[in-house]
Amino acid sequence: MLNLVLFGPPGAGKGTQAEFLEREYGLKQLATGDILREAIANGTPLGLEAKAFMNRGELVPDEKVIAIIDECLDQIKGVNGFIFDGFPRTTAQAERLDELIKARNQKIAALLLLDVPRAELLKRLLLRGQQSGRPDDQDESIIENRIEVYARQTKPVADYFEKQGKLIKIDGVGAIHEVTARLQQAIEKLISSSK
Ligand code: AMP
Repeated sequence: MLNLVLFGPPGAGKGTQAEFLEREYGLKQLATGDILREAIANGTPLGLEAKAFMNRGELVPDEKVIAIIDECLDQIKGVNGFIFDGFPRTTAQAERLDELIKARNQKIAALLLLDVPRAELLKRLLLRGQQSGRPDDQDESIIENRIEVYARQTKPVADYFEKQGKLIKIDGVGAIHEVTARLQQAIEKLISSSK
């Protein structure tokens, strides 16, 4: 199994790149943001609770997202591994992910950090807001808050995996296919070193 954390600030391109990696390596993307948006669209209790946090650009409580991941790991079979996209977003989530994965006799191979400067993130997110209609991408102050939440609460997750020797930084600026090629190169290295 190849389990990867695809990491980076909002707008770094995690979702876009995850789609390619899923196909290329037979992995399953687990994007907590997508799962939460689906819960909102379906009007489930989880969706109702998550909506206010998401619309403000704040994090949904740890136990809610951890429960989502726990359930996905139980239910999804027959894949070569998982791409965790937008999870973990706090150190507490990272610790729980380690536990959930270990309990299944697996491990996280690496955290791939897509590095993109702040000005570029703002530009990308405002453009995505016009195209996708995502409410949290349409208001500049909410976008600023999400970038701030990333710096304060989420960035320590990279330090957590760095201490385990699992942090790989990838330049996230450039054409989509250029970033894909950089990710692919890093993953090929991981695969060959695990053989
Ligand atoms: P994303 O689609 O990853 O940008 O996530 C959109 C929003 O969903 C975030 O701003 C949070 O409000 C919420 N969210 C997604 N993943 C998590 C997570 N792992 N922990 C807490 N909140 C999350």
